[in-house]
Amino acid sequence: MCPFINNQTAQPMALLNTSDALQRTILATVPDAMIVIDEAGTILLFSDAASRMFGYDAGEAIGQNVRGLMPNPDRDRHDDYMRHYMETGEAHVIGIGRVTNARRRDGSTFPIELAVGEVLGEHGRLFTGFIRDLTEMQRAERRLADLQAELSHISRVSAMGSLANALAHELNQPLTAISSYAEGARTLLGEDGMPPEENIAMVREALADASEQALRAGQIVRRLREFISRGESERRVERLRRLVTEAAALALTGTGPSGIDFEIRLDPAVDKVLVDRIQIQQVLLNLIRNAVEAMQRSPRQILEVRSRPGTRGMVEVTVSDSGPGLAPEVAAVLFQPFNTSKEKGMGLGLSISRTIVEAHGGRIWAEPSEFGGTAFHFTLEFAAEITEEPQDG
Ligand code: ADP
Repeated sequence: MCPFINNQTAQPMALLNTSDALQRTILATVPDAMIVIDEAGTILLFSDAASRMFGYDAGEAIGQNVRGLMPNPDRDRHDDYMRHYMETGEAHVIGIGRVTNARRRDGSTFPIELAVGEVLGEHGRLFTGFIRDLTEMQRAERRLADLQAELSHISRVSAMGSLANALAHELNQPLTAISSYAEGARTLLGEDGMPPEENIAMVREALADASEQALRAGQIVRRLREFISRGESERRVERLRRLVTEAAALALTGTGPSGIDFEIRLDPAVDKVLVDRIQIQQVLLNLIRNAVEAMQRSPRQILEVRSRPGTRGMVEVTVSDSGPGLAPEVAAVLFQPFNTSKEKGMGLGLSISRTIVEAHGGRIWAEPSEFGGTAFHFTLEFAAEITEEPQDG
């Protein structure tokens, strides 16, 4: 714990002179783990939070060398770090908030943030370390990284929107061919009576060609399906609260400091929904981003995500804003691809959202919002009756 000595934080602290009762109170209540060591690295004080964090009682820790709380390489090098600092006054690691690793009683290591101060005690120099466990924070960061990885799938789905256009074009060819082969065959068969023998052979050929084209069309459709799906269906019982908070965090990331008055009002009675989490988060992400973009010039920026029981076993989710509302020309073709009023817009967000919601058995629609802007509503299947799978939080 000592490559951390910071001259700037050195300040005469009379900690060890304070009354026992006061000292005990401080050690019991200081929220971060607090450890005081002497020049030799011997632990003199060990707070309650430190006991919880490392798994040692104060009685066991006091008198031991602080090295025991570090994993290698710091553990082996700690004495050298201390000696070097004592001789040269040169701090190796300066500053509040050094991030390093610590070691619990059971040998497991965990990330910590460490702030160190130097104390001038009666019997020489003492060092106070305040330690914060970063495990939770790192878990949250990992979760964010996972979400970002999942987003790459989402962008694949978005790219699908433009691809769908190309594919529709491609599908047109075999469909037109099938239609003209069928038409040709009908002509060859004639209006009435038996068609000549040579025509029968041509009809057979036309039908073979038509069926080949139909197979080709099928292949195109299959290719598209493979492209958008990630294998088997990923529908599970999910908590709406989690979907919304994560999607909102992502949607609002990078929008810079904003004056948006953002509120999540979810009905806890309808929190469980049966969905593909990533896809529904994509819908929420689209709607929230659209709302934020729509309100850019609004003097009053209100964004609200709400849920309530819907009809026929569904949950209704609403994303409302206080923006200018839908432009009439957009409203007329809402949810259709390539319909955008934005300079850099693709006009795909809402059409993809509709595809996703409808594939989930729900529907999506827009109405004026109570805040004077737009409210997008969509429904999802409520999952109260279904056994919940274990979730990782
Ligand atoms: P894009 O955002 O790329 O334009 P979308 O399909 O998500 O594509 O949206 C289509 C259009 O719908 C937008 O360009 C915008 O004109 C309109 N729109 C969507 N959401 C809102 C909203 N909350 N308020 C006002 N207009 C909206």
